[in-house]
Amino acid sequence: MEKYYHSVTLDKDKCKGCTNCIKRCPTEAIRVRDGKAMIINERCIDCGECILICPYHAKIAVTDPLSIIDSYPYKIALPAPSLYGQFKDIKDINKILNSLIEIGFDQVFEVARAAEFVSEYIKEILNSEGVKKPLISSACPAVVRLIQVRFPELVSNIVRVESPMEIAAQLAKKEFCAKHNVSQDQVGVFFITPCAAKMTSIKNPIGNGKSNVDGAISILDVYSPMIDKLKSNEVKSLQEASRAGIKWAISTGESSSLGIENYLAVDGIHNVIKVLEEIEDNKLTKLDFLEGQCCVGGCVGGPLTFENSYVANNRIKRLLKDVDSSPVSEGELIEAKDEIIWKLQKDIMKKPILKLDANINIAIKKMKEMERIYRSLPGLDCGSCGSPSCRTLAEDIVRNNASEMDCVFKLREKVRYLAEEMIKISDKIPTSHKEDKDNDA
Ligand code: SF4
Ligand code: SF4
Repeated sequence: MEKYYHSVTLDKDKCKGCTNCIKRCPTEAIRVRDGKAMIINERCIDCGECILICPYHAKIAVTDPLSIIDSYPYKIALPAPSLYGQFKDIKDINKILNSLIEIGFDQVFEVARAAEFVSEYIKEILNSEGVKKPLISSACPAVVRLIQVRFPELVSNIVRVESPMEIAAQLAKKEFCAKHNVSQDQVGVFFITPCAAKMTSIKNPIGNGKSNVDGAISILDVYSPMIDKLKSNEVKSLQEASRAGIKWAISTGESSSLGIENYLAVDGIHNVIKVLEEIEDNKLTKLDFLEGQCCVGGCVGGPLTFENSYVANNRIKRLLKDVDSSPVSEGELIEAKDEIIWKLQKDIMKKPILKLDANINIAIKKMKEMERIYRSLPGLDCGSCGSPSCRTLAEDIVRNNASEMDCVFKLREKVRYLAEEMIKISDKIPTSHKEDKDNDA
């Protein structure tokens, strides 16, 4: 049986069973049963939509605490470029990178720098013969998981390149170990993450056996300690990433760094679903590249960021004005290719969630039963049964995870029927017995 790890979890004590989250979940992964939400492991893609919508803060993302860095003699921070948009009145990215050193890291390696390498690898693939188009970006792990569970036929469109985070981890360790003459197991590399999906992709990588990253600390957790250190006047020059890599923090950034015109950059998981549906229906056959990002505005809109995504987007665009635009050199690319694994090593598996049984005959039978039950339900998709829609309730019933009586309309119908039956039976009681009863009363 497959083991699951999810960063997104439920704090049962805080959950009021209000059902707000069940409708928002893009993979219908949440049910409310016995007054509490529950997440179905095989469906959850760690998009964090339920974290954003829950009014009681009952959905949380589990990430590593900052103190985890103390478990290694040497520690390297891998800041996501979305971190650069979090701080007010900062005009120099070096200030942000220096404050990471001041809160306890020995070195920083910008994920934006690795994104430049990834852009070059994707360009190569885009220009190669026989590539299946539209090519779909593999940068957002929530989108990749969405494709696995809801659009399995599009798995082969996903670009087989490691994420910038994984490339950054490899390059950072190699550089640091060579420079300081230490072994790799003494060095911990930690991603500063804007989202839960990245944490999940470290613990449970897609297309790879083991992640090169040793942990993920949320932007929210480093924000306060960093704010204090930003006041320091001593600023070393640490920034290496150029405009092409930093742009990856915002929607359209990845596509524009590829230098192509025929692309779609879509942000927000529900918008991504609409476009994937079109690709699945062969309506976008002329498209070269799809950059899909789960969060609104791109990674700057991640649920673990501090700043409003529009404000962060604006800050990053302003910072970019003073950033060098020179891309990675041919020599650097060749050298990096020799040193790191940049292609996914394993297949991205299809994980269709609608499969009702491994046996096709039983699955067909169950599907027919599901359709019959669905037709008997009111079709209001009210969610008061705890399933997100009447169709999912029908599916839950067929899977023996719910009963028709969970539907309030069905229950009312049944109660009415029973009441009418009781009246009919009562009418059949012989008059003398009835009178005896009335007298007793
Ligand atoms: S939104 Fe979901 S997790 Fe939050 S209280 Fe309501 S049912 Fe529970
Ligand atoms: S993280 Fe996303 S997929 Fe998982 S339960 Fe929440 S809304 Fe659904």
